[in-house]
Amino acid sequence: MTALGILKQHFGYDSFRNGQAELISHILQGQDVFGIMPTGAGKSICYQVPALMMNGMTIVISPLISLMQNQVSALQANGIPAVCLNSMLDETAYKSILSRIYRGEIKILYTAPERLVTPSFQRIARELPVSMITVDEAHCVSQWGQDFRPSYLNILPFVELLPRRPVLSVFTATATPEVAQDVRKLLDLHEPFCLTTGFNRENLYFSVRQPRDKLQALLEFVKSRQGKAGIIYCISRRLVEQVTEELHRAGIPAVRYHAGLTDSERRQNQEDFIYDRVRLIVATNAFGMGIDKSDVSFVIHYNMPKNLESYYQEAGRAGRDGSPAECILFYDSGDIRINQFLIENSGDNPQIDDKTREKLRRKEKQRLTIMQNYCTGAFCLRYYLLNYFGDTSPKYCGNCSFCRTHSEQKDITQESQKIISCIYHLHERNLHFGASELTAVLRGKVLKTHPEIAELSTYGIMREVSEKACLEMITYLISIGLLSVKEQNILYLNRKAGLFLKEQQKLSMPVKKALSTAETASGTSQLSGTDEKLFQLLVQCRNTVAKKEHLPPYVVFTDMTLRDMCRKQPVSDMAFLSVSGVGRVKLEKYGDAFMTVIRNYRT
Ligand code: ADP
Ligand code: ZN
Repeated sequence: MTALGILKQHFGYDSFRNGQAELISHILQGQDVFGIMPTGAGKSICYQVPALMMNGMTIVISPLISLMQNQVSALQANGIPAVCLNSMLDETAYKSILSRIYRGEIKILYTAPERLVTPSFQRIARELPVSMITVDEAHCVSQWGQDFRPSYLNILPFVELLPRRPVLSVFTATATPEVAQDVRKLLDLHEPFCLTTGFNRENLYFSVRQPRDKLQALLEFVKSRQGKAGIIYCISRRLVEQVTEELHRAGIPAVRYHAGLTDSERRQNQEDFIYDRVRLIVATNAFGMGIDKSDVSFVIHYNMPKNLESYYQEAGRAGRDGSPAECILFYDSGDIRINQFLIENSGDNPQIDDKTREKLRRKEKQRLTIMQNYCTGAFCLRYYLLNYFGDTSPKYCGNCSFCRTHSEQKDITQESQKIISCIYHLHERNLHFGASELTAVLRGKVLKTHPEIAELSTYGIMREVSEKACLEMITYLISIGLLSVKEQNILYLNRKAGLFLKEQQKLSMPVKKALSTAETASGTSQLSGTDEKLFQLLVQCRNTVAKKEHLPPYVVFTDMTLRDMCRKQPVSDMAFLSVSGVGRVKLEKYGDAFMTVIRNYRT
């Protein structure tokens, strides 16, 4: 079966997202790959699909038990033989998993990096055919990243121990160019196919506010988002306690999460949140790594975090399912002092010497300044974020608190068609260019290296557009995923670009506004065209099913899938399979329950 067939049959999706197909095809050709894709872009599919197509087993190395367990239950819910070897297993469970592995039944095995040094695990990996090793959260291998994990340094010696070197596929959501370089080196990737889909998360709305009374602002905000799942990050345990208490006093249910609670309370509160028993969680940054609850609708930072990496990662826990979601930061100059204090007094890693420690601290302070600029500057917030991560981005995104006030929409349908067809014609002649060379071609400037280009029909079709405007449009097309970027900034077309031309879609881009008006109310009410009553009935059905199966509701179906179900209202197996996120196994398991709800609703 083809990769696309596997995607449909096991995961229920009709098409690959930006970057997925390319990464999968390189893996299947036996090449190492390095994917840098933002949270929610769909990294898991990139290794899960080829894992099912390759002969042996895939070992996935992932930093946290909770993260692995979530992934494994999601795979099992789709009928995929995946397991997780971790320290929480009792003797019987461990043995039963081992025997399934030795019988060759398991396609995907998740484990933590610490386990790679144990002789029993090394034996498994040496004796069984391992076709691929996947490293999730690969930035953890670099000490310049914000979550350095020394045990990630076990990975390379482990790979070197195997009788045959498997393909390495490594993924991360947060890597500055410096960290990315480190990852390649420390994992010794062999001429990897590198792809960054860009860090942009189109569906996230970014906003910085400086409320005079944070608490009041918070209460008002969460009241206006009733019934939606949200995370509220606070900088200290004390604040977590205080904010939770205030929410309770206002009659708003919320649970708390920080390192000072007992293990059992932490686990309980996290579960209550994941299983939708409580919609709000107030937490320190101890919460979140490995939480892939896909329907978090907003993330509020009650304080400014210590750097943009942490911010983007934490805020990025909103809207993983692709629905519109909000990331709001409450800024107050007092947050700077707290962060400075935390940097000065951070728990030191005893393994590093004084000089390195000093260097790391300096770096932390620089990062804090950059974070502070994010909060106080007068520019598009997305532009600032994406530039920091080394990504190109338009000057106005149209979906942040700055742009809501300072930008307006301009139609660029024709220009986009010209840009895309020019790339297409260049590719036909096997010419692959970056944005500035492409701009030159579009504007009719001769490239000394390629004089023959002047004969192209698309040569000079945008003569009247300034170089700056042309580059801005290309950047915009990249940011919305119509164009993709490979190594050396080379542009290429993807499926989305093809559809854009074929379906003659319209396109507009945010540009600087002539006159500024007041900021319009932010809103996420663009859920568009679905029937709210049916949606609520389907949510209820999902809750019942999830409870029975002891699964988090989003593992049964995500909100996106339920929305699509509302739109299509399927009442036959065929129609049910056409819903995005429904594969063969889920049809068999849940089809009847959900179609009964739909049938009753329609009559
Ligand atoms: P990441 O690991 O990059 O943060 P995930 O792998 O958790 O993202 O994917 C995020 C969500 O997107 C999941 O709900 C996943 O099922 C969904 N998804 C992934 N690929 C596709 C696709 N091709 N079509 C539709 N949904 C997808
Ligand atoms: Zn913006």
